Amino acid sequence: MSRLIRLIASTAVYSILATSALADTAGGEHNASTAAPAGHTGVPFPSAPEIAPIGVRLDKYMDVPEAAKGPPIDPAKGYRLEKLGRGLYMVTDNGYQSMFMVYESGVVVVDAPPSYAAKLKQAIAEVTNLPITHIIYSHSHTDHIGGAGLLGGHPVIVAQEETKRLLLRDADPARPIPTVVFKTSYRMQLGSQRLELSYHGDGHEPGNIFIYAPEQKTLMVVDIVFPGWMPFRRFAVAHDLPGWMAQVEMIAKLPFDKLVAGHVARLGTRADVLTQIEFDNDVKSAAAAALKTTPFVDGINPADAGNPWALTDDYTARVAGSCVKTLTPKWSNRLGAFDTFVWDECYAMEQSLRVD
Ligand SMILES: [Zn+2]
Repeated sequence: MSRLIRLIASTAVYSILATSALADTAGGEHNASTAAPAGHTGVPFPSAPEIAPIGVRLDKYMDVPEAAKGPPIDPAKGYRLEKLGRGLYMVTDNGYQSMFMVYESGVVVVDAPPSYAAKLKQAIAEVTNLPITHIIYSHSHTDHIGGAGLLGGHPVIVAQEETKRLLLRDADPARPIPTVVFKTSYRMQLGSQRLELSYHGDGHEPGNIFIYAPEQKTLMVVDIVFPGWMPFRRFAVAHDLPGWMAQVEMIAKLPFDKLVAGHVARLGTRADVLTQIEFDNDVKSAAAAALKTTPFVDGINPADAGNPWALTDDYTARVAGSCVKTLTPKWSNRLGAFDTFVWDECYAMEQSLRVD
């Protein structure tokens, strides 16, 4: 049975349960005389968390903790270059991160985020006049590689085969099609420099790879770990949340000193990865507890009894709210921008726990 059919079947059962529950509570918490027009914002949930829900404008977001910040960007340049050792560099605009590696006869670029790709050649020219001979795509998403077309020349473009499949589908001239693809691993030896590429399944999207520079003990994995910060919304829009969580755990076991995570301001450390594992597990526990203890029907308008999506929407909002409340005391000052995406993480987790 498909997930959708299962969901419809289970919500039909919920609907029957809900009708009797509504008959018991009709005239209770729901007050029809003060109700807003159908489809409009109504009375807030009782004991809703203080963290603003999705879609509500805030007067002021929470301050970003010092530990989440990185070195400042020179506004005249618009990017920052950080040495990772032995010809390897990170480039960042403190929102995105990419790398390049200089070898005896050229340069290998790993990702070209459009936010600063127009300045990538200038960044490379700060350290070498050698040409770009290779580009590696961490994955297909345009916010990380959509500047590749600006680099010019005819570089060899290396990616996992799923990335090529997605790029052929997208047919975007800003993201040239890979010329070399691999399935599980690919070792690049360029002069005296080495990069080890490997694929471990759909942690973020199909084709998202690990890029390891063994001499420099530097690992680049994009959209999986967010050093010092909340993961981007819905765990960086992970297709498969259990797979995403497994890859965070895998990263923690690898022998790196520096992590180029693709986002935010600074390099990641093993401590950042362990912190994120702790956060992910806390979201999972909080969402699981909320799913277990939250009644499916509580205070909804009895006139919505025949609308299974309405019942599910009301239920999941109360589950997510309970999850947000549980997480707030421990995490609100520990990770950058807790208030931006905590609701999204709770919604993503309760959804995953119900169907995965
Ligand atoms: Zn991505």
